[in-house]
Amino acid sequence: MLRSRLILSVVFLSISTLGHPGRLEPTLGGTIQEVKIYQRTLKLMGSRFDLTVVADDREKADGYLDLAIDEITRIERLISSWDPNSQTSVINENAGVHPVKVDPELFQLIERALKVSKLTQGAFDISYASMDRIWKFDGSVTEMPPKAKIKESVSKVGYQNIVLDRDEQTVFLKNEGMKIGFGAIGKGYAADKAKQLLIKHGVKAGIINASGDLNAWGCRPNGKDWMVAIVNPLDKTKVFSWLPVKDQAVVTSGNYEKYIILDSQRYAHIIDPRTGYPSKGILSATVFTRNAELADALATSIFVMGVDAGLDFIDQLKGVECIIVDEDNKIIASKNIDLKEIKTQSR
Ligand code: ADP
Ligand code: MG
Repeated sequence: MLRSRLILSVVFLSISTLGHPGRLEPTLGGTIQEVKIYQRTLKLMGSRFDLTVVADDREKADGYLDLAIDEITRIERLISSWDPNSQTSVINENAGVHPVKVDPELFQLIERALKVSKLTQGAFDISYASMDRIWKFDGSVTEMPPKAKIKESVSKVGYQNIVLDRDEQTVFLKNEGMKIGFGAIGKGYAADKAKQLLIKHGVKAGIINASGDLNAWGCRPNGKDWMVAIVNPLDKTKVFSWLPVKDQAVVTSGNYEKYIILDSQRYAHIIDPRTGYPSKGILSATVFTRNAELADALATSIFVMGVDAGLDFIDQLKGVECIIVDEDNKIIASKNIDLKEIKTQSR
């Protein structure tokens, strides 16, 4: 499926979506109705969101965009670790103390996150968050933190110690000092939920793009596929190539925005929960699959697993493809993506 449609060039990392001028579409009754693409860009969940919908007019589009924004804001309130009033913060505050009753939505999100942890043998782990106290990607970490501190913080990590009680709908972090965080799946989840809601309200086509983690549906008013741009990580104003997306999520994890350089090595903001050290060796991982939450979790997992294990892992999953850029800027793709074909097409 991806094989014949992917077009990309040599180096890429993040993704931006293509705006498109509106055009007139004839309706069945023979009258002319204007169907246009409407967009709004704003900061949500601490990140840039570009929301795109196809609608008959500005008023309708504004209504849809407001719905999407409300939905993303609602999710942010539920999963934010910064907001002391979020259910997630209450779970964290009560680590080692007692189970916390949460909304079914949060319960199920955690349940799915634990499934990915099992699938990735702990490479993906929402309880990585206790290590936030050591690894800060705001420029304040200038030397390797002491081994003892890393050891101590990694001892608080372990998805096996997140205890879910289905009957009671409670979440309990067994050990004091444990912490969960949705940095690796929150944006993907929000993109999925906003898309679902808009489809429910009759929106035929759109793209929810959370800083390069996107989910698209339908097509442009001219019947053509949405296109996403593949840009050069070293100069994001340069588009290498465009690729079509149809009812699909495309999510990229990259180490170009949040990273630290220690002893001339570039460390990503993705931590290996098994060692307590930030992952290295990959510049970006892009995952293509139906849902952005899973794509987001898998893109993060690839970073921790490394190129070989990551690729091997993705190749075993049905309906999931990936493209990895390693630290030497080399592009490596999962088995159903033909890089030779892509390179020929992009010339
Ligand atoms: P981006 O913000 O580039 O989309 P990701 O989706 O890959 O990045 O998520 C990275 C974030 O995930 C980190 O900033 C951190 O909050 C969280 N995280 C780091 N390591 C892990 C891990 N091993 N498992 C789960 N979440 C992680
Ligand atoms: Mg992710």
